[in-house]
Amino acid sequence: MKTPAYAALAARAPLVPFPIDRREPGPHDVVIDIRYCGVCHSDIHQVRDEWGGAAYPLVPGHEIAGVVSRAGSAVTRWKVGDIVGVGVFVDSCRRCEACRAGEEQYCERQVSWTYNSTEQDGRTPTYGGYATRITVDEAYLLRMPAALPLERAAPLLCAGITTYSPLRHFGVRPGDPVGIVGLGGLGHVAVRLAKAMGAHVTVLSHSPGKRADALRLGADDFLATTDATVFSRNLKRFTFILDTVSAAHSYDPYIELVRRDGVMVLVGLPDASPLGAPALVNARRRLAGSNVGGIRETQEMLDFCAQHGVMADVEVIPIQRINEAHDRAVQSDVRYRFVIDLASLT
Ligand code: NAP
Ligand code: ZN
Ligand code: ZN
Repeated sequence: MKTPAYAALAARAPLVPFPIDRREPGPHDVVIDIRYCGVCHSDIHQVRDEWGGAAYPLVPGHEIAGVVSRAGSAVTRWKVGDIVGVGVFVDSCRRCEACRAGEEQYCERQVSWTYNSTEQDGRTPTYGGYATRITVDEAYLLRMPAALPLERAAPLLCAGITTYSPLRHFGVRPGDPVGIVGLGGLGHVAVRLAKAMGAHVTVLSHSPGKRADALRLGADDFLATTDATVFSRNLKRFTFILDTVSAAHSYDPYIELVRRDGVMVLVGLPDASPLGAPALVNARRRLAGSNVGGIRETQEMLDFCAQHGVMADVEVIPIQRINEAHDRAVQSDVRYRFVIDLASLT
């Protein structure tokens, strides 16, 4: 099926209109007419080949929300007209220990990421949501909550699950002092999620101008990291820190803010950031990482967000403004997620 899309054709080239082919639905496939697609910083890292190994043409986008327009003959869980979502992966091996545990994002054989990856055949390239439709296996779909505006719920499919999963996995409890580093797409959803879980939330930001927004989002406190004394004044303050920063930075000053036996979790993925052993050693702190979340947990997160009114603050753009949006996101100039309205591409 010929499908309008936007692609990067090389690492330092702007995204341009580039029609792609979507497969006809097989018995277990669903075709989705995409309404909205969030713009994640991971799109930018990969379009610009900041992680290495990017395959062009590259059609980014993994916060995909839309409407089922066709369903394969064996599909039972979805019907035409359902409002559904697709997140960061579209398939996995389904047999390994991780897949059987519902943690498909850690598949030990091969995750089929939504773009810049391949289907399970190891050959067919995957293309993401900067396009008007996508064909996806029914097992990798999410049900979008009717209670939330779709354009504000779309970013939950990556920004939401990426922050929800470590908050849950590391057992954040009501009253826990939690630090969120970086108030961007992930960070601003993390603030709302951590508050909904009852934590005492502090934002650590290199943008002093975001203080009022942080408090409006529900944060209890805001620390501007441009003031270096912030680090010496807040030693051992937090039991849990979530680092969502997209640019290289030293982890040590943040680790020093974690209490004895506390944990700092990295979800931000800059290419290289320095780390020294003493910051971990001197209070038996732990440093961990976390990658999105499985299908079951993503559905749980969407339902939690519907229940607690958690959604993204978005700036909806036509796809023709995507290159400007990528540049602005790199400058931390987004409040707080760009979302593409795919009606602009039809
Ligand atoms: P984003 O909206 O651009 O937010 C990143 C934030 O990092 C900015 O708002 C800014 O917050 C801070 N920042 C940016 N440049 C900085 C600099 N030079 N120094 C210090 N702080 C800086 O990005 P996002 O979409 O939230 O993604 C954040 C990161 O998470 C990216 O690296 C992305 O690839 C990664 N990611 C990982 C996963 C996963 O599963 N692990 C999933 C999605 C995304 P302040 O202005 O408040 O300082
Ligand atoms: Zn993402
Ligand atoms: Zn697997």
